[in-house]
Amino acid sequence: MELVFASGNANKVKEVESKMGGAFPLKGLSDIGCTTDIPETSDTLEGNARQKAWYVWDNYKVNCFADDTGLEVEALNMEPGVLSARYAGAQKNSADNMALLLERLKGMDVRKARFRTVICLIIDGVEHLFEGIVEGEILEQPRGNEGFGYDPLFQPQGYAITFAEMQMDEKNRISHRGKAIQQLADFLQCF
Ligand code: IMP
Repeated sequence: MELVFASGNANKVKEVESKMGGAFPLKGLSDIGCTTDIPETSDTLEGNARQKAWYVWDNYKVNCFADDTGLEVEALNMEPGVLSARYAGAQKNSADNMALLLERLKGMDVRKARFRTVICLIIDGVEHLFEGIVEGEILEQPRGNEGFGYDPLFQPQGYAITFAEMQMDEKNRISHRGKAIQQLADFLQCF
C-alpha cells in the first residue's frame, strides 16, 4: 500500500519509517510533488493532525497520515499545547520557549505535565485517530544535552533523569511519539 506521511522533512519521514519497523515504506510530501506549507490553524492537536491529513487526501487522493505534538502543563491549563513550537514567538526557539515556561511556572508546586502526540490516518477516505501520551513533570532547571524542544525540562514519571539525559532508544520506547507510532503500526498490520 502506498502511504504518505504529511511531512516536508525527509529525515523525519525516514525516522518514522524506521520506527514503524520498516514494514511500511513511507513517502514524504516532496515525493508526491506537494511543496505547500500545509496550514495548521486549529486550536487542538487533533484538529491540526486532521487538517494536514485531509489536505493531502483532498488534493492527492493518497492514503496518508499526519501528526501533531504538544506539551500540556496542568497548572497552565494545558498550555503550551498546540502552541508548543512557537510558545515564545514565531522564531520557534527552544531556549526561549523553555525560559517562558519556567517563568510561567515560577513559584508553582504542581508541575505535572505530559507530552501528547496525535496521529490522523486516512485510508480510502476514512479517518482513524491514534494518541500517544507520556506523563511527567517540569523541572525547575534544564538538565541534559540530548533531544530537542522541551526535553531538558521534562522528567518522565518513574525516572530521575530528563528526556535530554536519556539515550534516544530509551526515549523512543517510552515517548508520546513512540507510542502513537506503535499504535499506527499495529493498526496497519491489518492491511
Ligand atoms: P511537532 O508537532 O512534532 O512539530 O512538535 C511541536 C513542538 O512540541 C516542537 O517544536 C517541540 O517544541 C515540542 N515537542 C514535540 N515533541 C517533543 C519531544 O519529544 N521533546 C521535546 N519537545 C517536543
